[in-house]
Amino acid sequence: MDLRLTAEQEQYRRDVCALLRRDDVQAEAASARRLPPGQEPGLLDVYRLLGERGWLAPNWPAEHGGLGRTIVEKAILTEEMIAHGVPDVVHTLAIDIVGLAVHLFGSAEMQDRLLPRLARGEGLGCVLFSEPEVGSDLAALTTRAEPEAGGWRLYGRKVYSLKSHLADFGLCAARTTASEVPYHGITVFAVPLDTPGVTVRPMWTMADERFGEVTLSGPLMTEADVLGEVDGGWPVVGRVLGLERTGIEFAAKGRRLLDAVLSHQDAVLAPEEGPSPYAEQLVALDAQVRAGELLSWQALGKLAAGDYDDPVYPMAKWHSTETAKAIAAITAEVCGLDAVLSARDPDSPPGWVVESALRDAPGFTLASGTSEVMLSLIASGALGLAP
Ligand SMILES: Cc1cc2nc3c(=O)[nH]c(=O)nc-3n(C[C@H](O)[C@H](O)[C@H](O)COP(=O)(O)OP(=O)(O)OC[C@H]3O[C@@H](n4cnc5c(N)ncnc54)[C@H](O)[C@@H]3O)c2cc1C
Repeated sequence: MDLRLTAEQEQYRRDVCALLRRDDVQAEAASARRLPPGQEPGLLDVYRLLGERGWLAPNWPAEHGGLGRTIVEKAILTEEMIAHGVPDVVHTLAIDIVGLAVHLFGSAEMQDRLLPRLARGEGLGCVLFSEPEVGSDLAALTTRAEPEAGGWRLYGRKVYSLKSHLADFGLCAARTTASEVPYHGITVFAVPLDTPGVTVRPMWTMADERFGEVTLSGPLMTEADVLGEVDGGWPVVGRVLGLERTGIEFAAKGRRLLDAVLSHQDAVLAPEEGPSPYAEQLVALDAQVRAGELLSWQALGKLAAGDYDDPVYPMAKWHSTETAKAIAAITAEVCGLDAVLSARDPDSPPGWVVESALRDAPGFTLASGTSEVMLSLIASGALGLAP
């Protein structure tokens, strides 16, 4: 595995860092972190600043608003946004997951229609897979697409859809044909969320980013809204989930949080107190973060090479999310009551990330497939154990 970046990629990282360090960008990021409860970051100006340079989706072709570069540049952007404290969820959803799926499975017309707005940082897509009784076992989904002249009408309820109340469209998995084999007969539609028959309601969460519940009461979809094949949507679902599992954003979040805890240790421990009682645990976690970074970069290398089925994806997702969660847990011990000071508190240190990470962390090992599901994929894909 060659982890060296090319001179062009190093330059891209420097350019991105220079933009993210700008005073106006840092001020916007700081106010996004200090939003009062019930409010959350949406489409920030910084996304448009990145988008107008083609840097938001650098791996997309120029005609869709990118630079025609590789997934490596995209990962560099994710790492640097998180390292610079810029909220990244909108960007990860729009570009890494939904946009890339449209890029891989959408028709040329759909790509021209949906991608440029995402790449300019002016639009957002979301994922409509989970249902009230369907999460890990997605093939059991109950949302139906009933055929009608000119297309299908969708009926069902989708939940836990991150940021759907802000999205232009959602990638929705629905059953077009009943089948004995659950993986057959599923189709993925790009559903414009302003279509009559679509209702989006907020689902509150303790994390900063909000879910939506999306009720589908018969919106009409046509062939133009289909990603991949009609009745052959399972590979699209699998690929979308795979795109979510490089672990790169969790490795970056783990690093940022660990660095915050380490600097807090330096601030509270006088030299005469000797080494931190948490030193061994923190050193072990530092090693785990580094290993997670390597796994994530290995997964990105596979993605860049078009190898989408390697067990390195569940390994990277499992490792990075479990590590980031463990770091969040130790912060509460290391920081004591300071851990609950939010970025809104005037006494919280600048750039404080611990409190929001404590609320975010429980979701790390659930989103995009739970840790148990990742272990099961590793068991079958890497160890050859029967599922
Ligand atoms: C932060 C966050 C963001 C999300 N964003 C979205 C989104 O944008 N769009 C969307 O559609 N969904 C989203 N989800 C939902 C997410 O995909 C589901 O929560 C996840 O797939 C688990 O499904 P579930 O909650 O129904 O739990 P279940 O599938 O019911 O699982 C319950 C428990 O059983 C375990 N389990 C289930 N099956 C197995 C098995 N085969 N072997 C061993 N253990 C098993 C699980 O690990 C878990 O511990 C999000 C969730 C979170 C936390």
